[in-house]
Amino acid sequence: MQRIVSIRKTLPVPADWHFFTLSEAEWSKAAPGTHTAYSNLAYKTTFIRETYAESASDAALRQTIAHEMGHRICNCTDEPEANRVAAQITQGSH
Ligand SMILES: [Zn+2]
Repeated sequence: MQRIVSIRKTLPVPADWHFFTLSEAEWSKAAPGTHTAYSNLAYKTTFIRETYAESASDAALRQTIAHEMGHRICNCTDEPEANRVAAQITQGSH
């Protein structure tokens, strides 16, 4: 979780946005499948799979959070659009 706190400072994450990590048991109920993170825009919350948050590189985790902020900024569930916004907000800051 400490890494998430550090990474969020490098991205346009609102102060009132929440991050929660979910255990495998929670994840299998909440988000079965292969995703590493998902967001509930209405609740201003991003859920990250705990095993992923622990094992991912800083760069991969940052990319995941940027993608979720892409959803927030476009206010949409469109994956290509979220990726496009993520590329914009991470541009030049690697
Ligand atoms: Zn997405």
